[in-house]
Amino acid sequence: MIQKDSTAFNINSNKANHFDAIVVGSGMSGGWAAKEFTEKGFNTLVLERGRNIEHGDYPTATMEPWTDPHGMAMDPQVIADNPVVGKCYAFTKEHEHHFVKDKEHPYIQIKPFDWIRGYQVGGKSLMWARQVQRWSDLDFEANAKDGHGIDWPIRYADLAPWYSYVEKFIGISGNRDGLDQIPDGEFLPPFDMNCVEKDIKKTIEGAFPSRNVVIGRSANITQRHNERGPCMARNRCARGCPFGGYYSANSSTLPAAKKTGFMTLRPHSVVHSIIYDDAKRKAIGVRVIDANTKETIEYFSKVIFLNAGTVNTTAILLNSKSNTFQEGLGNESDVLGRYLMDHDFRGHARGRIEGYEDSYYKGHRPTGLYMPRFRNYKNDKQQSFLRGYAYQLGASRWTGNWKPGDPTIGSDFKDKLTEFGSWGMGMGPMGEQLPYAENRITLNKEQTDDWGVPLVEVDAEFKDNENVMLEDALNNAAEMMEAFGCKDVSTGIDPKWNVGLGIHEMGTARMGHSPKDSVLNKFNQIHNAKNVFVSDGACMTSSACQNPSLTYMAITARASNYAIDELKKGNL
Ligand SMILES: Cc1cc2nc3c(=O)[nH]c(=O)nc-3n(C[C@H](O)[C@H](O)[C@H](O)COP(=O)(O)OP(=O)(O)OC[C@H]3O[C@@H](n4cnc5c(N)ncnc54)[C@H](O)[C@@H]3O)c2cc1C
Ligand code: SF4
Repeated sequence: MIQKDSTAFNINSNKANHFDAIVVGSGMSGGWAAKEFTEKGFNTLVLERGRNIEHGDYPTATMEPWTDPHGMAMDPQVIADNPVVGKCYAFTKEHEHHFVKDKEHPYIQIKPFDWIRGYQVGGKSLMWARQVQRWSDLDFEANAKDGHGIDWPIRYADLAPWYSYVEKFIGISGNRDGLDQIPDGEFLPPFDMNCVEKDIKKTIEGAFPSRNVVIGRSANITQRHNERGPCMARNRCARGCPFGGYYSANSSTLPAAKKTGFMTLRPHSVVHSIIYDDAKRKAIGVRVIDANTKETIEYFSKVIFLNAGTVNTTAILLNSKSNTFQEGLGNESDVLGRYLMDHDFRGHARGRIEGYEDSYYKGHRPTGLYMPRFRNYKNDKQQSFLRGYAYQLGASRWTGNWKPGDPTIGSDFKDKLTEFGSWGMGMGPMGEQLPYAENRITLNKEQTDDWGVPLVEVDAEFKDNENVMLEDALNNAAEMMEAFGCKDVSTGIDPKWNVGLGIHEMGTARMGHSPKDSVLNKFNQIHNAKNVFVSDGACMTSSACQNPSLTYMAITARASNYAIDELKKGNL
């Protein structure tokens, strides 16, 4: 057991433990920090708590159901043993090994919180659904304009070149739709809408002129790009793609960093805390617990990037106590841990489409359709809620005429499975969650995990603004589906869905103008510990209703290059 709250670990450090930069976490955002530092010639240590996964080391990538004794069906006992991660749509036999099981890494739910994690080299970039939209000034100005939350210290113009920089490297397929809410980026050719979706777009955009239906912009590369791919639309991405057809840290940023010869990647390294030197008034390194041997090791560097994923990043900061920062590094204002946000995906709408029976589509498509926000935008002013929501939507042809109760064996069953069913349409709203001070994470004072790190406690919920907005989103979904002619339209809210299951957790170490109400400045530096940067979801000041990971990557690329310039000037 290691001592809590102590900076006095009795460790002999040596030269091998000194680096120019340390990056904590090797996932979506950490991969970017690693790439930027190493490509500029900085000796960089990447610390990752999970095991290594080399690109290509994807055991289920080519598995077919008939090669598995259970037809790739998930063992019901595994679902029963994992009531939290078992709720995630992607926790299936093919991807199970990429997800943290509930009992492996316990945490305390003061209110129910579905924490979905991927502890391995590559983090959750291996399992993500690859949907990417830029944020716009509608989002960066939202807090300042409606007064809920503090002002972001950056605007779209600060990030636009970094969005381009990231997009050019990772490869994004998409259409230039010319919509201000989701500015166009550096796109590879888009995937196609199917014939029904094209009609849905025409009907909805005709009947509701402020609403747009676009093909989902996705980090799947429709043509060969930077020695990867192309994506062959197999829809097996979260297994890991041996072709590198989608962006993961494993396929893209980490190999680029490795190629430079300046990256030391250390898996099985649980970062416990940051070592802050009160006399020097700066951070000097990190404390690591080796996940296998439980040995404590200290590593030192001039600059530290925290990219451990929102909750883990803030947990590390809360656990980094010193005389100067007695409540956690950067926490002189008691803001650290507060304003946890996620996206609200609790609702769904479905309907049956008549006709189009002579039409089908070929193969798969690793993206869907997207309708950007239209509420509280331009002339739309809602009295009952702030901000807005987007929809993920699509139409597909259901397979077979089999229905529950019909035989599940025999030629009749097989025939039914190979018959075409009717077309159906689905819409799922993705609502912005406002930042609330009381939605927060803290560290438990008594209980630690197997590595001696205090357990994280989460206390968060959706509130009135999200609930009222969700009702509006479902009513509008039903109205649009009926306008298209859908039959049997139904809407519903998943009662088991808690904050966290959107897997877009954000906030808890937010950016702002002042240390009085924020943790980070406009370049993601801790206000009063300038050589510590946080550039994963923890830094977010509001949550918008776009998928967030592209923004984490752009923010990380920007912050890393700022840090590199400051290092060169001797300022860090
Ligand atoms: C099924 C699924 C679908 C998703 N779909 C989308 C989508 O379509 N679009 C989108 O934008 N986002 C999506 N996301 C979310 C996206 O994956 C995350 O936003 C993104 O991965 C977060 O990046 P990150 O760098 O903060 O964290 P991660 O990618 O999770 O990386 C963090 C890394 O830090 C490591 N780590 C944690 N704690 C420590 C510690 N103490 N010491 C050392 N290492 C540590 C972890 O093991 C991990 O490897 C999805 C996620 C999932 C699971
Ligand atoms: S859809 Fe594309 S990226 Fe996904 S597994 Fe298939 S080829 Fe790879």
